[in-house]
Amino acid sequence: MALPPSSHPYRGRLAPSPTGLLHLGHARTFAVAHQRARAAGGTLLLRIDDLDPHRSRAAFAEAAVEDLRWLGLDWDEAPCRQSERRAYYRGAWERLVLGGWVYPCQCSRRELQQLASAPHETARGASPLPDDEPVYPGTCRPRWQPGENQGAAERQAWCAAGPSGRNWRFRVPDARAIEFADGSFGPQKFIAGEAFGDFAIWRRDDVPSYQLAVVVDDAATGITEVVRGADLLLSTARQLLLYRALGLSAPGWFHCPLMLDRQGERLAKRNDALSIRALREQGYSARRVLEEAGSAPLAR
Ligand code: GLU
Repeated sequence: MALPPSSHPYRGRLAPSPTGLLHLGHARTFAVAHQRARAAGGTLLLRIDDLDPHRSRAAFAEAAVEDLRWLGLDWDEAPCRQSERRAYYRGAWERLVLGGWVYPCQCSRRELQQLASAPHETARGASPLPDDEPVYPGTCRPRWQPGENQGAAERQAWCAAGPSGRNWRFRVPDARAIEFADGSFGPQKFIAGEAFGDFAIWRRDDVPSYQLAVVVDDAATGITEVVRGADLLLSTARQLLLYRALGLSAPGWFHCPLMLDRQGERLAKRNDALSIRALREQGYSARRVLEEAGSAPLAR
């Protein structure tokens, strides 16, 4: 498959979240990421996505590293950890707040569920991908648009107070088509405000969002192509908006089809029976696990 055009040498990454054991689906995605980096004669990084202190466990991070090594997937350079990079996410949050892209949201989870169900039923139903974040109805949006002078004093005050204690959302440009070419799925197009709405940037318990951290990290580490599961296709549209708002150049994208279990359900970390570790303990070789990962039923 053709690699994305780039004047920079290929840099890819493996980015496991240590919230459970890696399973066959991860083996597949990481094997593809590894193969693409090596085929391009490029560099592959390992990043531990341990952003959420409530869900990440050091033992799962160790298990992920061990499983990747056992599969024979190697990487270059010292691994990095999102938990050590909060200062960078905080800097990006400030830039987004000052630019008028991000605003505090007081809506409770319950309010959001109620608000999101009725008016956005059609938009959600029409969404080409399952996504667990309902389209936000815009209740807490400020009066100003990004880039306007209006509200500058308020934004300065938000920055001085810091993100903790409130949820923060990114304001998406309603009706704007976000398009990108995916190396596996081809041309993609999502309409902001319909396929997805104003999304979380920072949580009130002081945890930066996945969307923010991943953009800051991929840009900072010079990643030229992101290889990951197709469940993140819609998140790529969100992330492209963040790249633009932060003035960063975006990488290329390659989303791998998701793997299904015998019941036709997507594999999740709760499928412990299909964890790489369990298969290894049952006597499967690494080669056999990679073969299984390559041939198991896939969802497109
Ligand atoms: N760490 C994320 C996960 O394991 C993937 C992040 C990404 O590839 O953007 O689901």
